Amino acid sequence: MRWNWRRQRRPGGVLLLLFALAGAAVLAWQGRQGPSVPADAPLTGGETEQRRLIALTFDDGPRRSTTTALLDGLAERGVKATFFLIGAQVEDNRDVVRRMDREGHQIGIHTYDHVQLTDLNRADFDAQVEKSRATLKAVLDHNDFLLRPPYGILDDSVKAWVGCPIILWSIDPEDWRDQDAQRVIGEVVSEARDGGIILMHDIFPESVEAALAIVDALHTQGYYFCTIEELFAARGIPLEAGESYWNAYP
Ligand SMILES: [Zn+2]
Repeated sequence: MRWNWRRQRRPGGVLLLLFALAGAAVLAWQGRQGPSVPADAPLTGGETEQRRLIALTFDDGPRRSTTTALLDGLAERGVKATFFLIGAQVEDNRDVVRRMDREGHQIGIHTYDHVQLTDLNRADFDAQVEKSRATLKAVLDHNDFLLRPPYGILDDSVKAWVGCPIILWSIDPEDWRDQDAQRVIGEVVSEARDGGIILMHDIFPESVEAALAIVDALHTQGYYFCTIEELFAARGIPLEAGESYWNAYP
């Protein structure tokens, strides 16, 4: 089954018009400012190959208080992330999930009750994955959700039954362990790498604080934060249903 993506690139027309109108003035300004590109300027054409890309991903939400604070901070910074949601927590947070979607974040499934997906029969698997998918589809009116299996544990049955790409991670600060924002910030910033996928949890205030500080720190290093879909598209790597992906390192 082919994997169809719903989203579209952000339009670059305004940017092109500005360049056309400003002409030599823009070139002169660029000369003074050097070659730096605003960290979250729209992705356009060949730029994407040169820019350092990284994806922030959040598991175990939504949780109204912390997820809302995170969405506020990401919106202030113009940053898009990917959220792997617990199906059972979606019903009471429909507005939060709709906001995620509306603001350009990508959404995935993290099972209905946060259970390990291996060694389940098909009915129990569907009660975790298909039920989550149906819940999200009812809230968002689309059906293109990624999967992140709890604990990163999968087997051949998961791959055969899931019906969407499986997204793992390459940078894991274990933010749940001590909820120490400074430690988490230090680990992620030191391990950051072009094409990386960062795993965090938007159910802890300290993780929200850390994530926003990480965004600010990596912006100063020229990183562009993108969704999982954007990250793999920029690298020309097709995401296939039933396949697992840890990173998009060049
Ligand atoms: Zn989890």
